[in-house]
Amino acid sequence: MQKLIDGYRRFRAEIFPGMRDHFHLLAESQSPQFLFITCCDSRVVPDLIFQTEPGDMFLCRNVGNVVPPAGELGRGGTSATIEYAVEVLKVPHIIICGHSDCGAVRAAMQPELARHLPLVRPWLHYVEEAQAVGTRALPSTCNSDAELRECVHANVVGQLANLRTHASVARALAAHTLQIHGWYYDILSGAVEAYAPDQRAFVPLESTTATQ
Ligand code: ZN
Repeated sequence: MQKLIDGYRRFRAEIFPGMRDHFHLLAESQSPQFLFITCCDSRVVPDLIFQTEPGDMFLCRNVGNVVPPAGELGRGGTSATIEYAVEVLKVPHIIICGHSDCGAVRAAMQPELARHLPLVRPWLHYVEEAQAVGTRALPSTCNSDAELRECVHANVVGQLANLRTHASVARALAAHTLQIHGWYYDILSGAVEAYAPDQRAFVPLESTTATQ
């Protein structure tokens, strides 16, 4: 706990004074441009990776960066977050970002890893189902980094398809007020890739606007 308390002290003493005007503007309203849906993994830190500031990103995190499909099964925190971001905050962009070495995707491929986790196990079905959306055959295992990377890619593409099933998202896409993006973050290199639907492949983020 001391690490958090020491960090908080530094924030109040050294960081906050320099951002006082920024926080003053944010104190009564927010207008984030991005709903960023990513995994809970502690190594994925969106504000650090994209150099964003308080007020820029509306964040939604869960194990495996899952978007349950709309409908009865999809009722829950993630779906409510999406609806709020689109209907109330009117974010122009939603990003679903997977990452390398994702334990959730690995566990979805190797169910024995989640055998003793009765709440995680059914949640991972969303990962399995999403991966099945892709047309390409997936590796049957994810023992190597390359195999796992392919499975994480497939999960991102599948969750994008789930995202489109939400009524608020479908309406905003039809009205051209929303764009959705699928990204992949590599922890080792710090590189981000974006899904390019026309190429059915992930390409360096810098090379595309990732419009979908
Ligand atoms: Zn993960």
